[in-house]
Amino acid sequence: MDIALTQRLSFKQAGLTVLVAFILGTALSLVQVGIDYASEDASIDREINALMEISHNPAARIAYNIDAELAQELVLGLLRSPAVISAQIIDNNQLSLASVSRPAMQNRYRVLSDFMFGSRRHFETALFVSHSPTEALGKLSLEVDTYAFGSHFLRRSLLTLLTGFARSLLLSLILLVMFYFMLTKPLTGFIRALSERDLRSPNHNKLPYPHGHERDEIGVLVNVTNRQLASIASEIAQRQDAEERLTRYLAELEDMVSARTEQLEAANSRLLDSNSELEAARRIALDMAQARSAFLANMSHEIRTPLNGLLGMLALSLDGPLNNQQRQQLSIAHDSGEVLVELLNDILDLSKFEAGQLELEHIAFDLGSMIEETANLLSQNAAPGVELTCLIDPLLPNQLLGDPTRIRQIASNLLSNALKFTRHGRVDIRVNAQAGGVRLIVRDTGIGIAEDAQTRIFHPFAQAGVGITRQFGGTGLGLALTRRLCEAMHGRLSLETREGFGSTFSIDLPLPSKGTIVQAPQLRGRILGLSPANSGLSEQLANLLPSWGLQYQQLDADTGLDKIEADLLISDCPQRLSELRALSDLPIMLVSAYGDFLSEEQVQALSPIEQLARPLSRQALLQALRRTLGQAEVHAPEQSSEPQRNRQARVLLVEDNPVNQLVAKGLLGKLGCEVLLANHGAEALKLLETQTVDLILMDCNMPVMDGYETSRRIRQKAEFTALPIVALTANALSDERERCRAAGMTDYLAKPFRKDELAALLDQWLSSVS
Ligand code: ADP
Repeated sequence: MDIALTQRLSFKQAGLTVLVAFILGTALSLVQVGIDYASEDASIDREINALMEISHNPAARIAYNIDAELAQELVLGLLRSPAVISAQIIDNNQLSLASVSRPAMQNRYRVLSDFMFGSRRHFETALFVSHSPTEALGKLSLEVDTYAFGSHFLRRSLLTLLTGFARSLLLSLILLVMFYFMLTKPLTGFIRALSERDLRSPNHNKLPYPHGHERDEIGVLVNVTNRQLASIASEIAQRQDAEERLTRYLAELEDMVSARTEQLEAANSRLLDSNSELEAARRIALDMAQARSAFLANMSHEIRTPLNGLLGMLALSLDGPLNNQQRQQLSIAHDSGEVLVELLNDILDLSKFEAGQLELEHIAFDLGSMIEETANLLSQNAAPGVELTCLIDPLLPNQLLGDPTRIRQIASNLLSNALKFTRHGRVDIRVNAQAGGVRLIVRDTGIGIAEDAQTRIFHPFAQAGVGITRQFGGTGLGLALTRRLCEAMHGRLSLETREGFGSTFSIDLPLPSKGTIVQAPQLRGRILGLSPANSGLSEQLANLLPSWGLQYQQLDADTGLDKIEADLLISDCPQRLSELRALSDLPIMLVSAYGDFLSEEQVQALSPIEQLARPLSRQALLQALRRTLGQAEVHAPEQSSEPQRNRQARVLLVEDNPVNQLVAKGLLGKLGCEVLLANHGAEALKLLETQTVDLILMDCNMPVMDGYETSRRIRQKAEFTALPIVALTANALSDERERCRAAGMTDYLAKPFRKDELAALLDQWLSSVS
């Protein structure tokens, strides 16, 4: 181990000591020199004064006797003193009796001496004799060269300083050696031993104490180091031990991981195998679903075609001259056929859900009016003791965005159930506007649903109890469909029911508003309601009339009638009307079910009276109010229920099935149209070359040329680009509509169709061409 000499501790310590000793020595030497200087300076004056004192008496006698010879001897004697360079005896008259001098000593160091002591000093003493001390005889003067003293002083000083240096040097050498042996050597030995020690080797001998240092600081250092080394060594040993254990664990872990990996790989490959089996099974299931859809489509075509014929023919026959019994039998047959069509439609819709083929429209429609129409259509199903009411929120926007067909389906499913299972009380269909959509509520006071059946009834073909089919009929498909439709529209269906107390089905549908809230009509007048307090009519009137600006007062059906002050009375209690008429000739509006209208005589007796059918739509009520109150209509004009425009049109019917030809021809004829007939597409194309028509009803599946191809060819001709072509198809699956549209057809009518559906279609397309 090499440490540079200047970096060694002994050197540094010796150097430091020497420096301190040197500074101290020099300071002491300088003090000593200073003292010496002071004493030398004083000794010059002292010695010369002593010389002057010795020479005073002889010099005084010489001056007294005026003896020049002796004077000469005396001054020569004084000049022998090495410091005196000039001596002179002067008498009273200032005349020199004797005077001697010699040159001052020259030397190169005298500048220093002159600086310290001055170059020369002058001494003078007055001469007198002892018996006459006051009488001055002359004076003795000496000139002294200080260098005689200064040279001694300089030599001494030099010696003092040199010995001081020599002492310091010697001392530092001695210290260097001492420190080397006492400090550096044992320390370097210790460091060497320490650096040669390998802490990882199993040799755990202690570091040796340097000789003679067992008890001093170095000994303590070695001791402490040995202790630290021992603890480090034991720690290293522990760590090595832990590392070994860790390595062992790691190896075990690796073994476990590789074993587990093998197991996982095996499981994975099993999973892959079962996945591919599952995939194959899924593919088979999908193929089967596809096949089922195709089968259903075909079957629906096969079933619809004869059904179309059946229902069409029954409808035609019902319009002809029949006796009551025949009419009743035929209407039963017709109604059963319609039930069959609805059943078929439900099954098809369900299978569309399962095949993921259900497509929802997103168009603007008037929900309030649609609900009123649906309720109106279904009102004939209401039992005689049931009051059906439509309660439309006055704040409902007039146009909402959604799928009107599907929402109508939901409303009519819920409402027909409510009417079917209610024998007495009320059935309400209510639409409330709410943030981001609407809430449709169908509430009845019917048989209710047992708790255990409340979830089951939403599954296909499930009913609440075993006796339901026998007692009420039905297939158990309506609610399943309703729930799925609701989910497809991102709505939420909820049910509150108690067996024996009725049911409330609520549906929240997120239907964005497209239009505004219709400006409420403003009327004037005082209206009196005479109806049971808990009736649907009183709720509806209280809901609507104030919002139309009318004053409305409710009279309970059981309270007595005395003073009546109003412009109009609205009631659903015919039994109280004669009593009322006796009191007042106020106009009456009677609301009752279709079958319960008053006879001609009763009307005569109660006049002025107007009868309105239940459920009361907002439009019907408004128009009746305007008529009765004599206030002009400001808003939309009254619509005739069956527009008769453009019915004298020429319609080309392209249909291969003779029964269907007959049905369609009969219905079109009844609607006032002239019908041209083609048995297939090619025939239709030929006919179009010579004849002009206003609309084509096109069957899709025909021999020779099908409806799609025929439509494509018709559209290729410039003169027929705007001619309405309405597809007639028995295939009710969802892609059918798209297929027809792609072929260039304008609209779509599913077979079997009703007369009113055909009429609506003619109205729509014939009015657009006129
Ligand atoms: P369907 O009415 O053809 O039987 P749904 O799916 O419409 O089929 O109804 C399933 C069952 O739910 C019904 O059979 C009936 O038991 C019960 N249900 C539905 N609506 C009502 C209701 N408003 N009141 C009582 N029970 C009802």
